[in-house]
Amino acid sequence: MIHLAHYAPGFIAPVVRFAPSPTGRIHIGNARTALLNYIFARKHGGKFILRFDDTDSERSTEEYALGIEVDLEWLGVAPDAKFRQSERSALYEAAARRLRETGRLYPCYETPDELERKRRLQIARGTPPIYDRAALTLTDAERAAFEAAGRKAHWRFKLEPAVVRWDDLIRGDSHIDCASLSDPVLVREDGSFLYTLPSVVDDIDSGVTQIIRGEDHVTNTAVQVQLFLALGAEKAPHFGHHNLLVGADGQGLSKRAGALSIASLREAGVESLAVAAMATLTGSSIAVQPVHSFPELAGLFDLSAISRNSARFDDAELRALSQRVLHGLPYDSVRDRLAAQDIVGFKAEPFWLAARGNLTRFSDVADWWSVVEGDVTVTALPDELRAAAVAALPAEPWDETSWGVWTTAVKEATGLKGKALFHPLRLALTGRESGPELAKLLPLIGRARALARLGA
Ligand code: GLU
Repeated sequence: MIHLAHYAPGFIAPVVRFAPSPTGRIHIGNARTALLNYIFARKHGGKFILRFDDTDSERSTEEYALGIEVDLEWLGVAPDAKFRQSERSALYEAAARRLRETGRLYPCYETPDELERKRRLQIARGTPPIYDRAALTLTDAERAAFEAAGRKAHWRFKLEPAVVRWDDLIRGDSHIDCASLSDPVLVREDGSFLYTLPSVVDDIDSGVTQIIRGEDHVTNTAVQVQLFLALGAEKAPHFGHHNLLVGADGQGLSKRAGALSIASLREAGVESLAVAAMATLTGSSIAVQPVHSFPELAGLFDLSAISRNSARFDDAELRALSQRVLHGLPYDSVRDRLAAQDIVGFKAEPFWLAARGNLTRFSDVADWWSVVEGDVTVTALPDELRAAAVAALPAEPWDETSWGVWTTAVKEATGLKGKALFHPLRLALTGRESGPELAKLLPLIGRARALARLGA
């Protein structure tokens, strides 16, 4: 039985990593892993590493790697360090050599067809389809014959038939009996590495203390724990396996990953804080709720809140959450985004506070800004109302009470009240059927523009 030390929070500053393969853009499910790690690092004063698992040189691209960096930045995840596995093959070669020398990595010559045949036979016999380790009994002469025949070896890691037990940060006491696993292939025929060995080598080299990842990696954990020890690590890191996000239909996200890619959500105008909150809080005991800053989200969340059930994720809920986030964003957090739309100056802050509650997407601000500062097509008032409205318009300076003063006077002059009064005035001032409170908009529109729109 292999036991791992229990993690004592606060004992040492954690080092965690997010390790995507740059073979596509990340979706909300990957973002969940990144965010759980990042929040964990931030809460415990630790370090967050972005590692690109790009040993698959055919499918990995620079473009995807850069895209993932953009996506993470947008989500508010700022790595303390980053590196690529493709730059580190010398380390992996050295580790493979060490394993060969200690008899833990052995050459195998079976073709995929031969392996498949063995597997079918085992299933037919009712035995578990585990690699039979036939290659371990090959003689030097047999190996030489394979090589002479042009076969190249792939290399398997010899597992100890032990139960690996760990105290999972999320799932609690966990174990896997390695006797029920095939010896995993670490090195392909062409000498390239599969994910397992480079990952462990880097985790050791980077001093990773916690590995927080999806529960689809639970079996890998057993193998990797053995690999950590075989490569001379004093102990394996602490592991935490989070539940995976599934769609409202209960299906995994990968098939619909395109629509739920971080890039496409951003392009659709979904707020990054809504994506971050949803990716983090879904499937936890903490209600999915709007947050207005990253520290607020980090403060809400704790790994122990993650549930063991799958985490059902609903697009419609995300859109609704995005609006709720938007409606509460303080001016300071959107100042730059407003400036990028030329919404600047002394009106920018009161404008934002007036308009935010009416936005579906942030980009809607441009339209409301044109109501305040630009030319809009308005609906003319009936003559009698226009005359009264123009006559009663108070002198500036205006504040939020000016609207009340004005409309009370217009009401007295015309006898109109309620919707019959307010609706035509709104149409005349904004050209919109509905929108932000006019008490807030009127001072921003200003007297000169208001008079022009009223047709004075
Ligand atoms: N590249 C692996 C993946 O994306 C990393 C898994 C891990 O965190 O160890 O699944």
